[in-house]
Amino acid sequence: MIKKQLLLIAALLSSAMTNAAEKTFSGPDGKLQVVVSDEGGKPAYRIVYDGTTFIGESPLGLATNIGDFTSDVYLEEGTKTRLIEDTYELATMKRSKVRYKATEAVCSFRQGERTVYDVIFRLTDRDVAFRYKVYPQGNTLCCTVTSEATGFLLPEGSTSFLCPQSKPMEGFARTSPSYETPYSADEPTGKNGRGEGYTFPCLFRNADKGWTLISETGVDSRYCASRLLGHEGGLYTIGFPQEGEFNGNGTPCPGMALPGYTPWRTVTVGKTLAPIVETTVAFDVTEPLYAPSRKYEYGCGTWSWIIGGDASMTYDEQKRYIDFSAAMGYRSVLVDALWDSRIGHEKMEELARYAASKGVGLYLWYNSNGYWNDAPQGPRGRMDNIIARRKEMKWMKSIGILGIKVDFIGSDKQAAMQLYEGILADANDFGLLVIFHGCTLPRGWERMYPNYASSEAVLASENMNFSQGSCDAEAFNACLHPFVRNTVGSMDFGGSALNRYYNAANRPGGSRRITSDVFALAAAVLFQSPVQHFALAPNNLTDAPAWAVDFMKQVPSTWDDIRFIDGYPGKYVVLARRKGQRWYVAGVNAQPEPLKVKVKLPMFAPGEEVVRYSDDKELKGKMETVRLNKNQEISLSVPTNGGVVIVSGS
Ligand code: CA
Repeated sequence: MIKKQLLLIAALLSSAMTNAAEKTFSGPDGKLQVVVSDEGGKPAYRIVYDGTTFIGESPLGLATNIGDFTSDVYLEEGTKTRLIEDTYELATMKRSKVRYKATEAVCSFRQGERTVYDVIFRLTDRDVAFRYKVYPQGNTLCCTVTSEATGFLLPEGSTSFLCPQSKPMEGFARTSPSYETPYSADEPTGKNGRGEGYTFPCLFRNADKGWTLISETGVDSRYCASRLLGHEGGLYTIGFPQEGEFNGNGTPCPGMALPGYTPWRTVTVGKTLAPIVETTVAFDVTEPLYAPSRKYEYGCGTWSWIIGGDASMTYDEQKRYIDFSAAMGYRSVLVDALWDSRIGHEKMEELARYAASKGVGLYLWYNSNGYWNDAPQGPRGRMDNIIARRKEMKWMKSIGILGIKVDFIGSDKQAAMQLYEGILADANDFGLLVIFHGCTLPRGWERMYPNYASSEAVLASENMNFSQGSCDAEAFNACLHPFVRNTVGSMDFGGSALNRYYNAANRPGGSRRITSDVFALAAAVLFQSPVQHFALAPNNLTDAPAWAVDFMKQVPSTWDDIRFIDGYPGKYVVLARRKGQRWYVAGVNAQPEPLKVKVKLPMFAPGEEVVRYSDDKELKGKMETVRLNKNQEISLSVPTNGGVVIVSGS
């Protein structure tokens, strides 16, 4: 008994003595540093790049139903560090082959005499990823995580580029949250969106010192997806899903078998925006969860709904779009909502046969519900239940369907992650690619689920059909996505319309596109998704400029490499993507004045002849052959709502 008390005193003394322990480790080139500390039993970390603080002293830790591990928690002695070198291939994101080099540092924390968790850090030269490994406590082999202390303190003077999280069970047919609220750009920190925080990824400008992107990856059925809650003073903390999501069903607090891992939280920093635009951290730290059941094919396609709306959901109109996709040399047609009642399963078999005869495949739309929203569009009740889902997928496989687009999911709870994962795993059994709409951000899913194609999780092209306001904001939004939403995951935007008006007649009525044709071409390069269903219409074969249609016929949907060239979120963007030997440089301008900038394009040879698509002051486009100067530079002039595309010559 006495001995035990002595031990306890000794433990208390040693914890007092190790108070304010601090550990520092660096990325491979030494510039990026993480400092971990435990002052006052409060685990914390900060991130410094080249001597500049990008994330100030920020809390770590989590509270569970088997103990509160946010305080009275101390660093254990010794840190296990190792260098990780890896190469992997992934056709479906911005860089097809990645060389990954990172320092891994494992910091163990104890409460009393028990190790409660490790915080595992991975540092590349520009990304920090970290996650918790939570340990069993005695015979307790499972827990519920009730909250996380995990936070990110942005330095004073930072501004934010954020998408507010919406409240649950609101919006169309009570389908929110679906990551479809408008961004605010260059706003001061210290707010909390609409009271519910912000959706990942979150971009910050570190005054004039650089940029910081915060996100999350590796989320699967074993945790929930989270958001960032904003606090006064520039602190943002991890928030779990809202109680009311999924119509109040399912807990916001993830359950975990022990030992268990949380998802990775990621921070990408840079003096310029290049590390943000080019980062692959969402995929670097994740791994495939199963093998692909076949070799999946991606590619471009069309969908009638974006221009033709519900009225276009007829057998004949879908056939016309199949012919159109065939004429464009595209891989697919996406058959959107209401096909079950307006075409029917039986006629769909005939339509799929017709498509196959033209070398075109079909994607079929499904409502995800279910008990979690009121969306009336069919087919319903096929994706929410494993038995119905697998039966439907078996039918799809029998008629050669390429993939599915599942809509209206609207929750980040663990129960929703189980639904996403169930749909993906089942679809793989039947050789189907999966696109999600009205959904959460994909968090590393390109690598984790080999048949995952893309997600909406953005105010996408449909809104330009719905409202003129979205058309008016098209360029502003296009100048945000390459820096925010699209940096961490494929974005199914469904854009690049060449119609002047969002209606089948392409005549005044409804909303009007105010961006140029070259802008549409540039967007096809700027927005990354391995499956692209463009907002093109059959009439574009005759009413759009031939050079624009020809460009859209050959634009790739999968890429080998990416380079940030120039830009500022919400104002303008110029970036380059490579497919094979060919580089595509694309830019758009949302500023009220024309963008005039000289850019260096080191991917081209000095004096190289390139093909340039550009706009005049009236947004009238043209294609011409031009030469770069000897310094591989070229002057760009991009009018408001206009674009530019430069492609390697043949
Ligand atoms: Ca949507």
